[in-house]
Amino acid sequence: MAGPPGIRARSQGFADIFDRSTGGALTPLNVVIERVLSPVRAMIEGRETLMFGTNSYLGLNFDPACIEAAGAALASFGTGSTASRVASGNQALHVELEKAIAELYGRRDAVVFSTGFMANLGAIGGLVREGDAAVLDAHCHASIFDACRLSGAKILTFKHNDAADLARVIAESGIAASRTLVIVEGLYSVLGDVASLEAISTVTSQTGAVLLVDEAHSLGLYGARGRGVAEAQGVEDRVDVIVGTFSKSVGVVGGYCVTSDPAFRALRFAARSYLYTASLPPPVVAAARQALSIIAGDSERRAAVSAHAETLHRGLTGLGLPPLAPPGPVGAVRMPGIKAGLDTWTALLRAGLYVNMLIPPATPNGEVVLRYSVSAAHGAADIEAALDIIAAAGRQTGVLRPAA
Ligand code: PMP
Repeated sequence: MAGPPGIRARSQGFADIFDRSTGGALTPLNVVIERVLSPVRAMIEGRETLMFGTNSYLGLNFDPACIEAAGAALASFGTGSTASRVASGNQALHVELEKAIAELYGRRDAVVFSTGFMANLGAIGGLVREGDAAVLDAHCHASIFDACRLSGAKILTFKHNDAADLARVIAESGIAASRTLVIVEGLYSVLGDVASLEAISTVTSQTGAVLLVDEAHSLGLYGARGRGVAEAQGVEDRVDVIVGTFSKSVGVVGGYCVTSDPAFRALRFAARSYLYTASLPPPVVAAARQALSIIAGDSERRAAVSAHAETLHRGLTGLGLPPLAPPGPVGAVRMPGIKAGLDTWTALLRAGLYVNMLIPPATPNGEVVLRYSVSAAHGAADIEAALDIIAAAGRQTGVLRPAA
């Protein structure tokens, strides 16, 4: 059955993948991780698979100290908090974690949410409402768009990473800059490019707009203390609010927001995504805290990620599949269409390499891409193995020309 035409039209390319899934083919929608062997290895279809799309950038989901901290919290606090922070879910562990985040950033307040998505809902909803403007980079994550929609603010977008266009949008919005919230990401999660925060924060400082940076993918990877791209670019004092997640480099789940603005202290009592949902389970909170202390003092893992990112980028470029952004923890390679993308993704998986396949609306500019993320837990041999598998699969599906 074709299904209602309206729904089919709305689901666009997604329907192609869905149809393959329901026909029993392996697709990004139905791949099952049967067993996890390490941060970078898993069993899929009974096959040991090299994982290059987990976002476990630092491999901390298997770090012995994080596992031990989670185990101790499990034994003393139990499996779950069973309530919201404003009911009985406000445990000492949650309060200590917030203190640790505020300290890591050298800021006055931190609020922990149950996911990064909820952190965006809470922080953005606390900063803007009807009559205000939310000005977003066009490549911002879905959670940022949804948070802005829920807030009731007027939503405007500016050209990706283009500070001059940001200045134009603020000037033409018809809403005072003091009532304008500008939102960008540190490291963009699909294409893997980094925000030009120097230029963007110059515009927000000059106009008086508030600047929020979502460092979901950059925490632990950029800056001397791993605080993210704002730290690496030396502009933290111009960033009003930072949002992030524990679901990537931290290796668990959860989200946070940090600020130094005293007016923002009341946020937790205004944010519905904080008030009306259960707080994070104790083992998750304890592991997050341990992971953050590792992140603050670690540069070796960050250096390993950079080295792997460089090698993979160079290798892919040499193969004729140049990533769409400079080397970084995340990279994306353009596919000529959904069929070629799916065929290549499947060939990679069957050869023991997992990457992410992404299509619009999850991608900008209507791109179909194979996205990868590298991890400090990868070894140099894993990068070489991945390149060999990509070369063979690319030739098999015609994405790469056959070797001469
Ligand atoms: N912000 C950005 C930029 C993201 O990429 C993501 C997740 N991919 C989130 C927020 C949401 O994070 P979480 O998984 O913790 O909900």
